Amino acid sequence: MESTTKILDELESAAAALEPSECQRAEMFAHVERWAAQFLHNTHSGKAYVVSEDKGSAIRAKAVREHGYSLHEVFALVEQALDNKGLNPASAGHLAYVPGGGIVTSAFADFIAAVSNRYAGVFYAGPGAVRVENRMVRWMADMLDMGESAGGTLTSGGSIANLTAIICARDAILQHSSAYSSAIIYMTTQVHHCVNKALRAAGLGDCDIRYVDVDSDCRMDMAHLRDLVSQDTKNYEAAPEQHGKPFMIIGSAGTTNTGAVDPLIEMAAIAKDAQCWFHIDAAYGGFFMLTEYGKQAMRGIQLADSVVLDPHKGLFLPYGIGAVIVKNIELLKRSQHYSADYLQDVIEDPMEVSPADVSLELTRHFRGLRMWLPLMLHGVAPFRAALEEKLLLARYFREELVKRASVFEIGPGSDLSIVTYRMNPSAKALTSTQLNTMNERLQQLVAEDGRVFLSGTVIGETYWMRIAILSFRTHRTTIDTTLEILDQLSSELISNTER
Ligand SMILES: *Cc1c(COP(=O)(O)O)cnc(C)c1O
Repeated sequence: MESTTKILDELESAAAALEPSECQRAEMFAHVERWAAQFLHNTHSGKAYVVSEDKGSAIRAKAVREHGYSLHEVFALVEQALDNKGLNPASAGHLAYVPGGGIVTSAFADFIAAVSNRYAGVFYAGPGAVRVENRMVRWMADMLDMGESAGGTLTSGGSIANLTAIICARDAILQHSSAYSSAIIYMTTQVHHCVNKALRAAGLGDCDIRYVDVDSDCRMDMAHLRDLVSQDTKNYEAAPEQHGKPFMIIGSAGTTNTGAVDPLIEMAAIAKDAQCWFHIDAAYGGFFMLTEYGKQAMRGIQLADSVVLDPHKGLFLPYGIGAVIVKNIELLKRSQHYSADYLQDVIEDPMEVSPADVSLELTRHFRGLRMWLPLMLHGVAPFRAALEEKLLLARYFREELVKRASVFEIGPGSDLSIVTYRMNPSAKALTSTQLNTMNERLQQLVAEDGRVFLSGTVIGETYWMRIAILSFRTHRTTIDTTLEILDQLSSELISNTER
């Protein structure tokens, strides 16, 4: 007996480090604060991309060991290995892929969420936390004008949000797994690759995917979609046992590649006629619904059965938050609700959905707070202004390139804040292969310069440079710097080909 209490005392003191004293906490706070101030200072003045030799190898060299390292050592490691390596996604010059955000008020919310460790899975356990999440879902459903019966869930990002929507569609329309392989899905080659991944993860990997043609601006071609759906419907009606059945139409409200918005109203009508689920991936473009221009560009988004949004893109939040909104929340509940023996005492509330009942996750990060706190503190106005600014910056960049038509050409058009373009010096008659090589080289040189970070894409056989403007820190000076860099590097490339 005595030995048990002695051992318990020893263990308690050995584990005491997990509860730092007030004094130790203050020291850590001071470190974090200093680091954050320095990081943000460097982010404003520094490069978007740093070519690094060691690529943070110090992390690899430091083993997890029985007793920890000092605060100073660990923070030094953070600075040495993480800061100033590769891409700084928080920087204004991040203009590649789809930029994220990193607003600081969201980081404070994460801190509160982690310290309190509130449980946001089940209403009766964490009523306040669940209300915060549900409030955010409601706000997005209202922004999309999806109606009172709409609801949804917050996810870790757009990929899991797409997966959740696809599983919901599957469970709502395909009664049994025997129907999976004969279900037909319509989408374009421009959908984000996470949709293909989600289809496979949802057991729909053997579905027939009809890749619908796109127009010259990479939007889904409605005549082709209509033809495909009506042909498939006719075949199915004539011989159901031999033919697949139209199941789902997937649109993009802002493709990652070029920012194209599919013709949502027409797609909704075709989906309705064919009794298909209509899903829209608006992970990139969705929050432009806060702007008048965006509402026009995405007319018809409210007609979808499910929509994916990514607050860690268009709402500038730090990575780790996506969302799916489903027009009929009952379908999502039916798809995701489960009970278990050990959840006997869970009381359901008629007013508040428990996130665990509409999500693949049970225990999860209290991620609603990282969205709610910034919206409460700042209101919607600064977000709307920033999004309008991004749209206008994209137009500005495009117009500036049009002025440089002897060197640059504009690629497939964008409906939002992405511009595709490439070098195509009119004084030279370069083959398409030479042009691709030249532009790939331009892309490399921009990365080596590092002040801004751009990325390229391939459409058909053509390599296009693209600029994706979505960071809240990107302003006109960033775009002017980008143009300056492009001017300088393109003239170098042209004079090099002369020699
Ligand atoms: C970014 C993106 C995704 C994937 O979202 P993650 O948050 O990266 O998982 C899906 N669709 C589109 C259109 C995107 O831009």
